Amino acid sequence: MTLSYPARCGPNLLSIIVPCLDEEEVIRETHQRLDTVLGEGSELDLELIYIDDGSRDSTLEILRDLQRDDSRVRVIALSRNFGQQVAITAGLQSAAGDVVAVMDADLQDPPEVILEMLECWRQGADIAYGLRVTRDGKTKFKRWIVHGFYRFLNSFTDSSIPPDAGEFRVMDRVVVDTLVAMPERDRFVRGMVAWAGFRQEAVAYQRPVRSAGETKYRLGKMLDLAVSGILSFSLTPLRLATFMGFLTSGLALSGIFYVLVVRFLTDAWVPGWAMLLITILFLGGLQMVIIGVIGEYIGRIYMEVKRRPLYLVKERLGFTSGRSMKGPEN
Ligand code: UDP
Ligand code: MG
Repeated sequence: MTLSYPARCGPNLLSIIVPCLDEEEVIRETHQRLDTVLGEGSELDLELIYIDDGSRDSTLEILRDLQRDDSRVRVIALSRNFGQQVAITAGLQSAAGDVVAVMDADLQDPPEVILEMLECWRQGADIAYGLRVTRDGKTKFKRWIVHGFYRFLNSFTDSSIPPDAGEFRVMDRVVVDTLVAMPERDRFVRGMVAWAGFRQEAVAYQRPVRSAGETKYRLGKMLDLAVSGILSFSLTPLRLATFMGFLTSGLALSGIFYVLVVRFLTDAWVPGWAMLLITILFLGGLQMVIIGVIGEYIGRIYMEVKRRPLYLVKERLGFTSGRSMKGPEN
């Protein structure tokens, strides 16, 4: 059976979500590029949602300026840094568009590619995501880590997250509504999108180096995102703990068996405080690791049940009243 997808047409509103953390050096340029590429002459109405994720530089002032001069600009200023994933979520909850794009503020996700993604969407795709052909500006080490991580994650989850994709994508309203309705606090957006399914198309693009400023993802932050990705999409680490338990019990049993055989069938003893110490240390270490794994999950359950808001907003500009935020959190 072949499914046919109706092509989309007609007047539509396009929302573009741009999370910004300390992007004073590029944000004006980004806005200009967006305006040039998607503003004039497009059959889509435009809504530009900039989320200031607790910037410490003048990003918010620049965004206020942009908003003053351009009624298509909306600004959501979060009360502190909540992370890119939460910033994107805040944007999704406030987006009114029939079709919604998410992109980085540093022009590494070229606005021109959004045009191609929109074409995919018009042809009936629910999600068009950017697939990086080159990752300029990323070190070999970072690239290697990222690839290894996704292979590892995909090997034990139901959903498959493309290794060379980031948060750059265009989504239909249906997908946005689905994401907004997901109640979890641990927002790993690309995992949630992969989990949601729908009709997804890849759009390959050359990823340029950052236009200005510095990456906000140092190794520590990448690790945080990686752990969040694994733990919020899989129970495999817990299963691994059980498996290790069985394995060490097996080893211990064979050890006992060996000792008894030596004791009863020969004249020798198995000597060995060293062996004893190694065994105790090994088991102690293993137990700590397993408790750690369980603890990570319990910690996450704790954060979920506290039901604190996902983020706090200190300022919202450019939203007309009545277009309130959707979603379970706020
Ligand atoms: N970002 C954010 N909050 C954070 C970290 C990053 O809103 O805590 C934004 C950042 O401003 C940029 C995007 O997320 O628009 C991607 O960050 P970055 O370019 O530093 O990551 P990279 O491209 O190096 O992976
Ligand atoms: Mg970047």
